[in-house]
Amino acid sequence: MTETFNALKRLRRKLRNRAEKAILDFRMIQPGDRILIAVSGGSDSLSLLQLFCEGFPHVAHDFTFVAVHIDAGFGSKPNILESHLKNLGVTYRIVQTDIASQALNPHAKKNPCFICSMYRRKRIYEIADEESCSKIATGHHKDDMIETLLLNIFYGRKIEAMAPVQPVFQGNLSIIRPFTYIDEDLIKQFAREMELPVLQKHCPMEGNTRREKIKNLIRDVQRDEKNANIRENIFKSFYHVNIDFPEKKSRK
Ligand code: SF4
Repeated sequence: MTETFNALKRLRRKLRNRAEKAILDFRMIQPGDRILIAVSGGSDSLSLLQLFCEGFPHVAHDFTFVAVHIDAGFGSKPNILESHLKNLGVTYRIVQTDIASQALNPHAKKNPCFICSMYRRKRIYEIADEESCSKIATGHHKDDMIETLLLNIFYGRKIEAMAPVQPVFQGNLSIIRPFTYIDEDLIKQFAREMELPVLQKHCPMEGNTRREKIKNLIRDVQRDEKNANIRENIFKSFYHVNIDFPEKKSRK
């Protein structure tokens, strides 16, 4: 029992230290900030919220936050999440939407995940404005960043990564990603051991997304390349950008 308790304590410290390092390295939080924490109900965002509730010893304390859950309408039951938010004693909002029907519309011209993410983001921006928040904290982690780079190359024809701090609307709002340095596995382990109430996923696209394909691809390459740390190499490439590439000539 004591051993389990100590293991959880070590895990919590590891997660908090790495998140805190990212917050300080990238100056994610300033005194007086009001932050919207985007809580999807997955292990990442619930772990992030947990850390915000417990606090970061070396980060300015005079900031406030509001937890926001967008219910996309895929059928998950946010009442378990609501009880959890009440128990934590945080300010929160749960917002019902019909994003699911728009994302899964068979006549939609875009990929369901694209539509779903776009409308969720839009709603989150609106709520940030209503709540006078200048920052949005998300549970995006190192694996999300690695996969997003490849997703953008594979499907978006562009080289673009998720930044630890991403200004939007001419810098009037910033998205901050305190889990920038943290692997997905560590977060999942924390959520499991903390018994956080992770929402069941009911979206029919789950397990069949482009992100899932990229995740599997990285896993497969890593399996064949025992001596190379593929994920770490992709992550480190964010800091080694060579743009010595000839500009595309426009056709006359
Ligand atoms: S898997 Fe479903 S819930 Fe997740 S982004 Fe895609 S459409 Fe939305």
